[in-house]
Amino acid sequence: MPGNRTTRICDECESAFFSDASRMNGLCPQCAHVLYGYPVCEHIFDNGRCVKCGWDGSASAYIRFLLGKPASSSQY
Ligand SMILES: [Zn+2]
Ligand SMILES: [Zn+2]
Repeated sequence: MPGNRTTRICDECESAFFSDASRMNGLCPQCAHVLYGYPVCEHIFDNGRCVKCGWDGSASAYIRFLLGKPASSSQY
């Protein structure tokens, strides 16, 4: 496989992701999993990005809410 994978920007968390790693055009695998139940990527982080899907660990406030994490972690 050539190294020129197409990179998109997630509509939800605004992270970059590899288009061929997600089943949704506008969502990274992480958000597609949380929002729509698509298979989760078992992220492997290298240099701040997942080498499998390209996600950089971003999460929108809505995603954090769905995951039950506080939008502001400063209190904890
Ligand atoms: Zn996302
Ligand atoms: Zn991943």
